[in-house]
Amino acid sequence: MRDLTKIVECYSCGLFVEKSSDIAKELCPRCNSKLEIRKEFKIESLVFAISSLMLFFILSLYPLISLYLNGQELNANILKTVYILFEQDFLIVSFLVLFTIILAPVLNSIVIILVYFQINFKKEIFKKSFLYDSYYFFKEWGFIEVFIISLIVCYIKLVGMVSATKFDIGFFVLLAYLFCFIMSNIKFEASAILDD
Ligand SMILES: [Zn+2]
Repeated sequence: MRDLTKIVECYSCGLFVEKSSDIAKELCPRCNSKLEIRKEFKIESLVFAISSLMLFFILSLYPLISLYLNGQELNANILKTVYILFEQDFLIVSFLVLFTIILAPVLNSIVIILVYFQINFKKEIFKKSFLYDSYYFFKEWGFIEVFIISLIVCYIKLVGMVSATKFDIGFFVLLAYLFCFIMSNIKFEASAILDD
């Protein structure tokens, strides 16, 4: 029996073509149009998404920057940063930070994990189109890298005033978190959600 997973249909003329190893450049032998190859969910994407969530959890426990002022240690972790903004009545800013730095990236990872489970266990908890749209929505609204840059700017300013300012464990976990987050998105094929 022939392996049906190795056969693709030409969308232009309906001819069934056997996939070759060089998929990217494959053209239909009858009408010469480009064959669209369905993309599959990559397991690396799941691994990086789970790592992201675990790193985020660790990250929220440790301070990002710490400094000593008059013998007192001052520091803030990622959740405290949002809380400080909220406390100082920067309501919109605190909500934006909460959403773009915390909620959107975390939900982005959760969507990737959900997609994996729906594809693998063939259960439709959420509609495919809903997952597809929310994946792009959370991806567009995640701004961890902007947050890292603002932390570096903040560090440079503080170091001029208080020389004992240093990046704390949380900052380095944040860098690892950003790496896993970006990798999970690079490896993720959103079109895999819509295919059966
Ligand atoms: Zn064709």
